[in-house]
Amino acid sequence: MVTRVNRRDNDTAQMVRTESGSRRGILLDFDHTLFDTDRFFWVDLKAAFTRFGVSDDAWEKSYETIWPSGYSLRTHLEALFRLGAIASVSVASAMHATLERSFSDLRPYLFPDVVEFLNAARQQDFDLILLSFGDPAWQSYKVQASGLTPYFTQIMYTPHEQGKAGMLDMLAPAYADLRAIDNNPADLDAMKASTPRLQTYLICRVESSAVEGADPSLRDRFREAARYLTIPSRLPHRQCRSLNEVSLSWPN
Ligand SMILES: [Mg+2]
Repeated sequence: MVTRVNRRDNDTAQMVRTESGSRRGILLDFDHTLFDTDRFFWVDLKAAFTRFGVSDDAWEKSYETIWPSGYSLRTHLEALFRLGAIASVSVASAMHATLERSFSDLRPYLFPDVVEFLNAARQQDFDLILLSFGDPAWQSYKVQASGLTPYFTQIMYTPHEQGKAGMLDMLAPAYADLRAIDNNPADLDAMKASTPRLQTYLICRVESSAVEGADPSLRDRFREAARYLTIPSRLPHRQCRSLNEVSLSWPN
């Protein structure tokens, strides 16, 4: 009886090994990992609103009111209209059309190592899985407009903080080798806690000069990315500043 149970366990283990076999996957975060979100959002998008006469103060105030329920250009423009920072609904509509046109191609906001890294990983038969936190429609716009959709086997969005660990639980059994790259230590901690064999890379895209210096002009340039540097890691992660530091070879 015991032998039969053991054999069944062995068969199951063998089956899992065969199914997951040599499958390798990389879980990638989007904002501040692949995409220079601060330069897009806090520098260039904000500057486009400024050209329409919207003050920094009104822009930030309206942003603060709408982001908790999911960001979109439309809701941001509506909030600015309610604040009196945009004269009429027709002006808001014209702004919306112009902004959509101006920011339809977001490829210039990818960090310079991204496309080369994704191609190299695909060539080495890694499945690439995008796990992205934020409003699904807004995240989807950024991912598509940055031209990254074709690189990924799966693209998953979660509007919930810490939602990535739940997604990983579903994905992990299919992979013999799994790595994750993220700029948020809290997400890496949660994922590593649920799947200890996950190889985690904490990537920092913030330039050292911006962290050390007190230059106010750099405040928006690394506005959100710099906040993640203040979050402590509970678990150890490999630290890197570039995707070129992420190993694509088999673990020893
Ligand atoms: Mg991120």
